[in-house]
Amino acid sequence: MTTTPGVRVRVPGKVNLELRVGPLRPDGFHTLATVFQAVSLYDDVTAMPHGRITLTVTGEQAGAVPIDDTNLAVRAATALAAWTGVEAGVALQVHKGIPVAGGMAGGSADAAAALVACDALWHTGCTRDQLTTLAADLGSDVPFPLLGGTAIGSGRGERLTSTMTRGTFHWVIALADEGLSTPAVFAELDRLRMAGGADATGVEEPQLDDALLQALRAGDAHALAARLANDLQEPACELRPALHRTLEVGCAEGALAGIVSGSGPSVAFLVDGPRAALEVAVALTASGVAGDVRRVHGPVPGARAVEAVRA
Ligand code: ATP
Repeated sequence: MTTTPGVRVRVPGKVNLELRVGPLRPDGFHTLATVFQAVSLYDDVTAMPHGRITLTVTGEQAGAVPIDDTNLAVRAATALAAWTGVEAGVALQVHKGIPVAGGMAGGSADAAAALVACDALWHTGCTRDQLTTLAADLGSDVPFPLLGGTAIGSGRGERLTSTMTRGTFHWVIALADEGLSTPAVFAELDRLRMAGGADATGVEEPQLDDALLQALRAGDAHALAARLANDLQEPACELRPALHRTLEVGCAEGALAGIVSGSGPSVAFLVDGPRAALEVAVALTASGVAGDVRRVHGPVPGARAVEAVRA
């Protein structure tokens, strides 16, 4: 029996350590200034040879993921094939470990992983820069999971500069049972700004906090905790008031700070090491404020092939 090798790519989710949302642009996107950190919560995307592009999804939340052409992994494979002129197909298998619609960019991570996996499977030999350009066309959050680590994002969040950090930061992620729609959270932010007298297009250009970048360079979790900030936290909490309680419980039980991750509803708690992580995770679980809890660390590398797979 002949066996044809495929490839498995592991890709991390992210938290935004700072997320500043600027004016609404004429193209409908907001200008962003953000600091991403890739954390050890992963999806695995396996690419196997096939006559056309197909997809299967496994994992606890698989039922919440579209399996048609709108899936970001399928869109990524289709875009790479079109751009390189490859006519081969691929059987994509996505195993979800990143929460769906959880503010941790799981769909974008799958797109990034599919680009890396298909590039390897089809021997298209794209450079990282070429994959990053394709990634940015697929979505604002797709380039970051290719890069991983910790990075500053500008533009729509797709223009990235890696930033230096020291050591490892420990996080406890409180997952919600039900996701939040990213466009709905941005719309709520615009509504709150209008209600507060600001016009969504007249908001100032977003700026990042130098002290946060300094805390990252120093590997100082306490200093970092004092600087975590997310302009989407208030609108996410408006749409999902239970998040207030989640934030309260985690901080009362020993987290250095808690922040809604991206557009939510996942909440990331920064803790002072693995032991504190266990205590906060146990307390969050016992209090019933989180659908599920994960202990993770960051920064971790971006999408990379972890295994050759035999048919
Ligand atoms: P972000 O933080 O980038 O705004 P998110 O983490 O909140 O995104 P995702 O998990 O990326 O949310 O899912 C958002 C929506 O994208 C889902 O509700 C789903 O309909 C759609 N989607 C498309 N492809 C995927 C995929 N491969 N995995 C998960 N969701 C996907």
